[in-house]
Amino acid sequence: MTPAAYLRTRRAAAGLTLDAAACALAPRIADRRVAYALLRLWETDGVVGEAGDVARLRTLYPFDVDVYRQLAEEPADRHPTICTGCGCTQNDACIDDVSTACHWVADDLCSACEDSATRSSVAWMYRAIVHSTDGEGATA
Ligand SMILES: [Zn+2]
Ligand SMILES: [Zn+2]
Repeated sequence: MTPAAYLRTRRAAAGLTLDAAACALAPRIADRRVAYALLRLWETDGVVGEAGDVARLRTLYPFDVDVYRQLAEEPADRHPTICTGCGCTQNDACIDDVSTACHWVADDLCSACEDSATRSSVAWMYRAIVHSTDGEGATA
């Protein structure tokens, strides 16, 4: 994962669009264009922000500056394990409703993301059943 992709993933996991993040970063409308440009720049693959500056984004969404620095400076085989679904690491795990931290269910997937993937596939099955029985009702 690139440092830029790490920021993108963490922002998306927090449910923030680039616009919303820019608004939060720049309360004054006059500064918002610059905020948006900066956020987009740091989320562009190949771009690495100065860690101290990037750390300010933690007021918007949670991420680990050490992870960011490692992704920017260390070779790939020394990168920390990062969930491709939400970007969590062992340094900032997902915490669920009952304060339980997530764990790894695969090399790059955490249990919180597996749960939400399972939930959405179950929702899909319920919808499919409703549609199927609708059809049955019509013919009966
Ligand atoms: Zn995850
Ligand atoms: Zn997680």
